[in-house]
Amino acid sequence: MSLKKYQAKRKFIKTTEPKGKVRKKNLSHFVVQKHQARSLHYDFRLELDGVLKSWAVPKGIPEKRGVKHLAVQVEDHPVEYFNFSGIIPEGEYGAGRVEIWDKGKWELIKGSLKEGSIKFSLAGERLKGEWVLVQLKDKKNWIIFKYQ
Ligand code: MN
Repeated sequence: MSLKKYQAKRKFIKTTEPKGKVRKKNLSHFVVQKHQARSLHYDFRLELDGVLKSWAVPKGIPEKRGVKHLAVQVEDHPVEYFNFSGIIPEGEYGAGRVEIWDKGKWELIKGSLKEGSIKFSLAGERLKGEWVLVQLKDKKNWIIFKYQ
């Protein structure tokens, strides 16, 4: 795991986002950040392998069963990003307001990202229950839906 892509996209003298490093300990955090960038989306992040595996979800995490939303995988973020909220300055990557929409712990139930499918539970303030993320053929795009 590496944060090279994440760090290459940002100028840490301009943005208040953390530079971060790959962690050894896994505390199974998840976070959903509402990101008012050029277009509003929700960033969904799962702590795994020392980083936050990340997806941009334009319509947010589905809260009702039977609803499928697109989740576009983006670069791994540092675990410290879990606590990040603030305004990414104009002209910088991802410029706009970031707010923490929900956070808590997650647990893997079945599958792996490598296999392209995971079933997992979320214990957040808003999100509670089980979800599935399934990778599409193009690898970058995933579908997220509530399982129960
Ligand atoms: Mn974003």
